[in-house]
Amino acid sequence: MVGSPRALVLGAGISGLLAAYRLRQQLGDAATIVVADPEPGSGGKLRTGEVGQSGGPVELGAEAFVRRRPEVTSLAAELGIAEQLVHPSGLRPAIWAGHELHPMPAGTFMGIPLGPEALEGLVDDTTLARIAAEPGLPLDWKPGQDASLGQLLAERFGPRVVQRSVDPLMAGVYGGGTEHIGVRAATPELAAALDRGATSITAAARSALRPGPAGPVFATFRDGYRILIDALERAARAERTQDFLDRPLRADGRGWDAGVLGHADIVVIATPAHAAGRLLAQAAPEASHELARIQHASAALVTLDLPLDAGIPQHSGVLVATGEELAAKAFTFTSRKWTHQAHRNLVRVSLGRFGDDPGTSILDQPDARIIDIARADLSTVTGVAEEPLATRVQRWRDGLPQYEPGHAERVTTIEQAVAPMPGLALAGAYLHGVGVPACIATADAAVAQALSGVAG
Ligand SMILES: Cc1cc2nc3c(=O)[nH]c(=O)nc-3n(C[C@H](O)[C@H](O)[C@H](O)COP(=O)(O)OP(=O)(O)OC[C@H]3O[C@@H](n4cnc5c(N)ncnc54)[C@H](O)[C@@H]3O)c2cc1C
Repeated sequence: MVGSPRALVLGAGISGLLAAYRLRQQLGDAATIVVADPEPGSGGKLRTGEVGQSGGPVELGAEAFVRRRPEVTSLAAELGIAEQLVHPSGLRPAIWAGHELHPMPAGTFMGIPLGPEALEGLVDDTTLARIAAEPGLPLDWKPGQDASLGQLLAERFGPRVVQRSVDPLMAGVYGGGTEHIGVRAATPELAAALDRGATSITAAARSALRPGPAGPVFATFRDGYRILIDALERAARAERTQDFLDRPLRADGRGWDAGVLGHADIVVIATPAHAAGRLLAQAAPEASHELARIQHASAALVTLDLPLDAGIPQHSGVLVATGEELAAKAFTFTSRKWTHQAHRNLVRVSLGRFGDDPGTSILDQPDARIIDIARADLSTVTGVAEEPLATRVQRWRDGLPQYEPGHAERVTTIEQAVAPMPGLALAGAYLHGVGVPACIATADAAVAQALSGVAG
């Protein structure tokens, strides 16, 4: 690297913008930092918008983050926007199962019961007896192995536990049921407890349960994630371009040849997995191949701005059990969940699941049809059928990477293939967790890795 370095960040989601900001901190004012993303706006799946005239920002993508991980809270403090952080009202979600609403079970680890009392009322007596008997069943688990979380739990506790307790929670994170989700990547604490020799899933779940920080589980930004995105862009002082690298990166002897984006000493690829795979086709074909194999779930989010007197139940939302006759997988009662939204009556309906037939996918329906489906499902679950004052549909095609069995191993292969390449690193939601805090952590690690590989 001769003179002032030139760094390129591909992707302007939270992972890319955090990488750009850290690069600016590490490389100083003299460095040129370019953030390239074909989209006109920055933030990727963090998108704050408006719905109707009822006032104030609404999240059209991610709506919150978990406080158990420190990354977002620390970043907000670092960027001087910590006073924007707000917490939920404390109302709990309900579960829609067997055509009725049930209280969300307490005494579970990610929906996995710690004992039969946790799921009383939600599952039948035969299933409760299976939960009670699970600690006594012989368990065949080899340290380091992986399995489908849904299949493993169905074998041990019965399918009802999966459909009614675990799937509804996991669908909120991964956009699909647990049949396609790997134990190791989705519940690493459980896998670790099993590796350490836990004799049953109940025992593993009990030892995986760790107390989080005091206070609410979730937080968000009062004026939306755009506050974080704007603050990061200001702090990164990067050039932003919509120019698009539509061919693989090539090593050019002194760094990277990024085609229309020019030469770069450092490249952080912070795109979704498939785009990253195309970019690496020449430099790291093995990583490219594995990236292409990561599957994704698509989702449509419908925000309904309802009249204030539409009687939304006193829950933060409703999670839908697998196998119910609804297109919706979850409802967020935004104005019940967040006190800063209580001046209006917003409801967000999430539709689409991993594995939906692309031919009949809800995402391909026109907006009016998607809104009708969302309203019909809301009416089934709550009885609320009032005409909304305003609506908004947001599609997230391939929005959520699936952490299938073997995912952790695949990620190791990808990272090991890229690690020896000086100045090159990957960040994003497909690596070590889909949540915003996990994305931030991958971007931090990517910058450290990219800088460690370049001299001077
Ligand atoms: C509907 C939904 C709800 C969610 N809710 C939550 C939540 O409440 N809490 C939470 O913690 N997480 C949530 N998530 C997950 C979280 O929002 C995402 O995992 C995270 O925002 C991903 O950030 P990223 O920067 O890695 O990727 P992205 O946000 O996908 O950004 C990648 C960027 O790369 C760009 N790009 C694509 N191809 C190229 C290319 N060739 N060159 C340059 N740029 C390219 C894209 O345009 C995009 O802007 C949700 C996700 C979805 C889809």
